[in-house]
Amino acid sequence: MTNDARLRPLASRRSWFAPREIAIRDPWGVRWLRLSRRMQVSAAALGLAAFAWVGHATIATLAPPDRTGEQAEALSRLRAELEGHERAADGLRQEVARLRSEKAVAEAARSAAERQSATEVAAAAATAAQGRVTDLEYALADAYLAQWRLAESLAVADDRIASLEGKAVGLRDLAAVAGQQATQLKDKVATLELLQGQLVERLKPATDVEVALLERNLAPTRLDLDSVVAAVTDEGSGGPLLPVMDDLAPTIENARLNDLTNSTARLDALKAAAISMPLALPVRLDGIEVRSNFGNRRDPINRRAAFHAGIDFGGAVGTPVFATAPGEVVSAGWAGAYGRAVRIRHAFGLETQYAHLSRVSVKVGDKVDAGDVIGKLGSTGRSTGPHLHYEVRLLDAPNDPMRFIEAGRNVQQQTEQARDEAGK
Ligand SMILES: [Zn+2]
Repeated sequence: MTNDARLRPLASRRSWFAPREIAIRDPWGVRWLRLSRRMQVSAAALGLAAFAWVGHATIATLAPPDRTGEQAEALSRLRAELEGHERAADGLRQEVARLRSEKAVAEAARSAAERQSATEVAAAAATAAQGRVTDLEYALADAYLAQWRLAESLAVADDRIASLEGKAVGLRDLAAVAGQQATQLKDKVATLELLQGQLVERLKPATDVEVALLERNLAPTRLDLDSVVAAVTDEGSGGPLLPVMDDLAPTIENARLNDLTNSTARLDALKAAAISMPLALPVRLDGIEVRSNFGNRRDPINRRAAFHAGIDFGGAVGTPVFATAPGEVVSAGWAGAYGRAVRIRHAFGLETQYAHLSRVSVKVGDKVDAGDVIGKLGSTGRSTGPHLHYEVRLLDAPNDPMRFIEAGRNVQQQTEQARDEAGK
């Protein structure tokens, strides 16, 4: 079907009711009545309806009665249709009322919905607020936890502080105790210093006396004892010397202590020197006699005046001969006029010589101590009979051995006396 087929009938109907003008002549002139399409359609409808009503009335009047039932049925049918329409209308009215009611309900529901939506906004806000509240509660819980931990940390800190304070108190107590101990120690030190002072006051004179006595006893050797002490101190062979206490404050007590120390050091050096000196006898005196002393004498062989550089001990051949001091053998064997002889080098430039021996029991280089047997008494060399010729030389110069023997006797007596005093 094309558009033209659809439009053609419409165009034909329009041609039926095309607008027309009808001229109406009356006593007042001619007027034009304009008939629009709408007026024509309405007039046609009215005419058709009048024709239909006249035709229906004519047929109803003229028609036989047997057709009355058909009409009644038609009417009844129409009434039924009307009633059906009316019921439908009623239904529609009821529907409309129902729809209106529903609309009202819907509107109310919408309003309610709007209010509800407003409430929902609030609810959303409330939800958001609840979320915030929850977050805040979590945050608050965290804050509580942090606060609890902080409190715990603070408690621990408090405990530590208390402990530290306790320790501090303990330290103060310790400091106090230490102070008391220091005071006690000071008192003890003061007491010790007092005792030391008293001891120094007692020891110093005693030491000085002992030093003086030893120096006097060693005086027969005619040795320079200061040089001897210096030599012993330099060699370090003078025994246990007390160190010089330079670090002590120059108080009176310390000065006295230094004096005592110096005196003790000199005493020790002198004792060590005495031990190193040839102060002993080369033979035991039992059955021994001193036949010839040191110095000028008449020579026993040629009867002329001569210098005797030693002393002669007369005794039996084979009598043991001892070293009179520690030293080193520097000569051992035949020595011309000395016969079989031994020479020993000691400290302080001292030497001893033992001559006319029947037998020599040491050799050069031997280290000997005081009392060691170095040989036996004899009569070898330029000798008139069995005897020991004994010399003590200082820097190769002959010294009187009797002076050393006398010094040795003095020192021995002093030692025995000190031992006796110590034993009391
Ligand atoms: Zn002699």
